[in-house]
Amino acid sequence: MLYLGKVGRVMQPLDNEAAQTRLEQYERDLQALMDMALSGQIREDDFRREMERVTVAAILIMYLLGGGDPAKQQSALNAQLLQNSRSIAGLTDDIYSGRYSARDEAESQRPTQTRQEGRQKLLNRIVLWVFALSGIYAIGQTKAPPVNGIEPEYIWELGRTEKHCRDCLWAAGQVLTASQWDRLAAAGIAPQSSSLECQGYHCDCRLRRVR
Ligand SMILES: [Zn+2]
Repeated sequence: MLYLGKVGRVMQPLDNEAAQTRLEQYERDLQALMDMALSGQIREDDFRREMERVTVAAILIMYLLGGGDPAKQQSALNAQLLQNSRSIAGLTDDIYSGRYSARDEAESQRPTQTRQEGRQKLLNRIVLWVFALSGIYAIGQTKAPPVNGIEPEYIWELGRTEKHCRDCLWAAGQVLTASQWDRLAAAGIAPQSSSLECQGYHCDCRLRRVR
């Protein structure tokens, strides 16, 4: 089935074409894996391993595309990689325990669900992963080293999210250097951060480079 990517419609594009392309590829990769899992074409262990491969590669690349200092990559992404493994375990359990499969009332305590409904719920969940990957790009931005002693500077822009949380509204419009944003990120203020009041879900905020 042809799937029209949701990312292009619900997210504002990143300010870097290569990163944007990577983000869209990520959505397609996750969706292809998801469809294989739902149709029983891939075993649980293999699905988990493939998810790990695809997501870890995307996280490492996205950080570098954001301009992140390779020397700081390990420490900067530690928490994210750990969280990623936990999320994969949860997603795998949910898929293979039938949460997104078709079912009727007779065979389950849970409400009836068609194949299409289950798939759509899973697609919506996958979009959150794509949002999360755009947050890795922002981490790269805040870990970007100075060039000739001059730090990059970014403005926080609100995205297409309909209701912004207080943290995002507070940060919106601020212009700070990479290291200043990095300090705020340590305090939980960074695009798509799970420490935001909105917990980063559907947070479409961006740091746009102004210097
Ligand atoms: Zn936001």
